[in-house]
Amino acid sequence: MPIYLDNAATTKPAPAVIEAITEALSRHYGNPSSLHRMGLEAQLMVDDARKTIAGALGTEKDCILFTSGATESSNLALRSAAAVYGRRKKHIITSAVEHASVRSTIDALEQQGYTVTRVKPDENGVFQAKDFLDAVTPDTFLVSVMLAENETGRILPVQKLFRMLQKKYPDIIRHCDVVQAFMKLPVSVSDLPADLLSMSAHKIHGPKGCGALYIRKGIRMQSIVTGGKQEKGIRPGTEASPLIAGFGAAVKLMQPTIAERYAYVSELRALLLEKLGELPYITLNSDPEGSPYIVNFSVKGIRSEIMLHFLEDEGIYVSSGSACSKGVQSGVLGAYNIPDAQADCALRVSFSEETTAAEIDALIAAIEKGQATLIHKK
Ligand code: PLP
Repeated sequence: MPIYLDNAATTKPAPAVIEAITEALSRHYGNPSSLHRMGLEAQLMVDDARKTIAGALGTEKDCILFTSGATESSNLALRSAAAVYGRRKKHIITSAVEHASVRSTIDALEQQGYTVTRVKPDENGVFQAKDFLDAVTPDTFLVSVMLAENETGRILPVQKLFRMLQKKYPDIIRHCDVVQAFMKLPVSVSDLPADLLSMSAHKIHGPKGCGALYIRKGIRMQSIVTGGKQEKGIRPGTEASPLIAGFGAAVKLMQPTIAERYAYVSELRALLLEKLGELPYITLNSDPEGSPYIVNFSVKGIRSEIMLHFLEDEGIYVSSGSACSKGVQSGVLGAYNIPDAQADCALRVSFSEETTAAEIDALIAAIEKGQATLIHKK
């Protein structure tokens, strides 16, 4: 059996999710827009998932829009905000550690003439809400900051920041990528007063190719593709009803156990940190106060890909800790002042509730073996 420790990249679809998708594909395959009974069945299925996701966030179903994933959700959120709210005002505030889906979209807006402030963490690698607030100018119309950062698991002070923004600058649009937090930490629109939230199904045992965007009531949107009237015309195209049914099934499954899973995964992290602490060649890149689902560390002198493939040969699957997509450095570890030599050797281990203590033991044994084998091969 493989030891899968790459749950921040994607998760194994849950049996209930596979069942919901199979049922939708084989029985409820009507087009949700069709006027006949089969269309209605598909529509009801999509609505049920919409209600489930809205309920999990503490909002109403009208506020949930389905997309092809968080990348599209964030593109839609940011590009729409720029088109609708960024006509006269041109300044955007974001963090220096956003996922590529937000980072590249904001880079593209900058190319179009918007100005961008990318807030960095303090000298201890901790983000301060005040630093974002201090960046606000009369020209600011959009703030986009993620909640749980995906490379090291750090939690950004978005709740505090969004509350302060809501009070002081209610006209500024607040977007948050909650992909690595949704169904892992409590996320609700009452605690996190966002205008827009991006979510993804495949990070929570749902299917790939499906996501959602929460849109607070009253926020005006402009679509980024043109077509029919689906999803209020904001996201035209026939809804991916089987994937949406799978997303709904994943949320139904995960929502009741957020606290329980958090506690369990925290124990796993404590165990891993304790064992890593006994190895003199390991440096921790995560903040112990961060999400317990992600642990990022460096094995001194052994490049990420080399150790990653060694572990793979041992049947253990992890991520390179500093590359966002296939070998291209994202610069996130650099933002925390982690030296390049250390970032080049970073590995990311990410848990699910299916991870066991025995798997952590196997990982540690494999790292020890890998270090002993590889350090002489340089
Ligand atoms: N945002 C974060 C923080 C992520 O970790 C990911 C996935 O890697 C995404 C966005 C993109 O999600 P999707 O694969 O659904 O486009």
